[in-house]
Amino acid sequence: MTVNTDKKKALVVLSGGQDSTTCLFWAIRQFGQDNVQAITFDYGQRHRVELESAANVAAFARVNHVCLPINTFSALGGDALTDAGVEVASDTDTETGLPNTFVPGRNLIFMTFAAAWAWPRKIGNLVTGVAQTDYSGYPDCRTDTMQSLQQTLRLGMESEVLIHAPLMNLSKKETVLLAAELGALDAMAFTHTCYNGARPPCGECAACLLRAKGFAEAGVADPLLGG
Ligand code: ZN
Repeated sequence: MTVNTDKKKALVVLSGGQDSTTCLFWAIRQFGQDNVQAITFDYGQRHRVELESAANVAAFARVNHVCLPINTFSALGGDALTDAGVEVASDTDTETGLPNTFVPGRNLIFMTFAAAWAWPRKIGNLVTGVAQTDYSGYPDCRTDTMQSLQQTLRLGMESEVLIHAPLMNLSKKETVLLAAELGALDAMAFTHTCYNGARPPCGECAACLLRAKGFAEAGVADPLLGG
């Protein structure tokens, strides 16, 4: 028997970055302030500032926020975001074509835990900031992956849960314009993007460069950089 989920309620996977923050405001517009909650995963990321950013963004947006510990990725090793022995490389791996900031399975696990958290609370919508454009080609950020995962979650939990990825086909520029339209720009001052965990951001890593490019192309000043 399929669980009756509440189609008005939404759970946003909030990393504390620019994209998930935009998604939080998208969800508030779509489902209403009172129907939106945010979830952040403490997956053992080296940059703990991300967790603080997520909490600050959620507080600013006035939505309920939970942080779940799923600290197993660092035990897997080998990626630059969780393994202290791996530095962020500027080039992609010649064999996989992926940057070493790729954490295998991360979004699959995130969405599965988000669905598991949503299930007893009958939350019918999951929202994620993954996008397949302009990014590093992470295979767990593609439409195909999310559609397939949605089907798996619906089957595996006998629910009608839906995965929304509103940024999926937007460029970074378009994401900034959407954030502006949603009134999310002020919240950007609380977000964290830098792969080097620097605050203020280093301005040199791939994540900082991509963020700067998006804001520049949109003709919008990044609130994180102040002034
Ligand atoms: Zn940086």
